[in-house]
Amino acid sequence: MIVLHRGTDPIGDWRFSSHKVLPSTATHRQQLAWAISHLPAALRVLQESKLLIPERVVVHLPETRPAAAPRWIQSEATSWEDALAVLDEIGRDWPDVVPISVDLQGTGMIMDGGVERWMPDVVGLRAYELGLRGNVWIATWCDAWLPYDMHGRLQLETRARNAPRLTQALLRIEALIGFTAIPGESKFSEVDGYTLTNRLDSDDEPIEMSILGYDDSWVAVEYKPEIHHAAWTSVPDAKRSRWNELFATSPHGCVDVAGACPVCGEAQLHRHYQLGRSLARVIDGEYYISEGRVWEWCSGCRTYEHGTALVPLWWNYYLHLDIEPDQLTATPDALEEAVQRRRARFHEPRQVPVVELRSFDGTTEEIVARFVLTTTGQVVTIARTEHTRQVADKSVARVPGGRNTWLTRDDGLAFLEELPPNLRGSRIFATKVFEMDETAALTLPRP
Ligand SMILES: [Zn+2]
Repeated sequence: MIVLHRGTDPIGDWRFSSHKVLPSTATHRQQLAWAISHLPAALRVLQESKLLIPERVVVHLPETRPAAAPRWIQSEATSWEDALAVLDEIGRDWPDVVPISVDLQGTGMIMDGGVERWMPDVVGLRAYELGLRGNVWIATWCDAWLPYDMHGRLQLETRARNAPRLTQALLRIEALIGFTAIPGESKFSEVDGYTLTNRLDSDDEPIEMSILGYDDSWVAVEYKPEIHHAAWTSVPDAKRSRWNELFATSPHGCVDVAGACPVCGEAQLHRHYQLGRSLARVIDGEYYISEGRVWEWCSGCRTYEHGTALVPLWWNYYLHLDIEPDQLTATPDALEEAVQRRRARFHEPRQVPVVELRSFDGTTEEIVARFVLTTTGQVVTIARTEHTRQVADKSVARVPGGRNTWLTRDDGLAFLEELPPNLRGSRIFATKVFEMDETAALTLPRP
């Protein structure tokens, strides 16, 4: 977690603008007065949230000020009354001068692990007038609300402890002012409502401050993410049969395995196969394509299994974790980190277009295969057996696209859309394109 010096753009900012409530014919003074009138309530919320405990007020005066007046006045202010006294003084000394802005600056608290850490410029509060609009501006120079810090280090725990505090405070201020804030355009982050996430490069990696031309001289405060993980332990004997049963019967195909962890109850478990020497074998109706190694683990309690294994054909290697073979060790440290990184990347379930191939025998309808357009742009086929997958793929190898053209799965959505009109037999037919959560779409339950 990093706090940048206040001299640069904030990492995130929001402004409540008077255009909703004041006509543009209102004077500078009226516009600023509107913004200032909301400062005490906004400050109270930020104080209660421990996001801003004021230490000083800075008031900027316009270029048109009298020669005797300074450009800006800074004064100690530990309460709104202190700040008001400064404004009153300016009003007395220079009755015709309308300040440009009133800034409240101070320290804020960030939860780091279980520890409260106080630091400057976590959040700042300002009232200002610009372009005949009054604005209440709330800005942060701290990155604790982001999945990655400004050096690209994962900090999900820090984010989980702090991001809701900022969002809640902004929502409370919104309720007091009566309308929604306009987010700023930050070079450091993406803003969605009152939530911040990292900006990502074309490889989905977080954009670090150095990429944006900011070296460490811009860092005011830095805490490295604390990692206090329990050790990995193997599955206790008493839980082993349940553990094996879960992995054997859960919907298969990708890294995530649904089912409560028999040790700690975590809702999702994980597995990873590493491919070794190729082979082709059928055991109990299951196809295997390779020798290899398997890891099964729980992120919650860090229980794991690791050993040699035959890699089943259903293992969707194209969905595997972003990991290099030389990172793999007996314990799933690197795998768990890859799961965490992926989690940071996909904050919300993604909806993807799918078409299902279904069979109908006169009484019941069953899913034969599902064609999924993944977020990586591939159309992948999900089926319960390799044989079915091959048959399904063959039946849609190419479909007429009109005007004597053909569409293949490389055509993505256009291909999916041509499946229903081209596959509408009485026993086998394709559904219309519909949307599913991507993770769910990429797994089919066993019959
Ligand atoms: Zn567990």
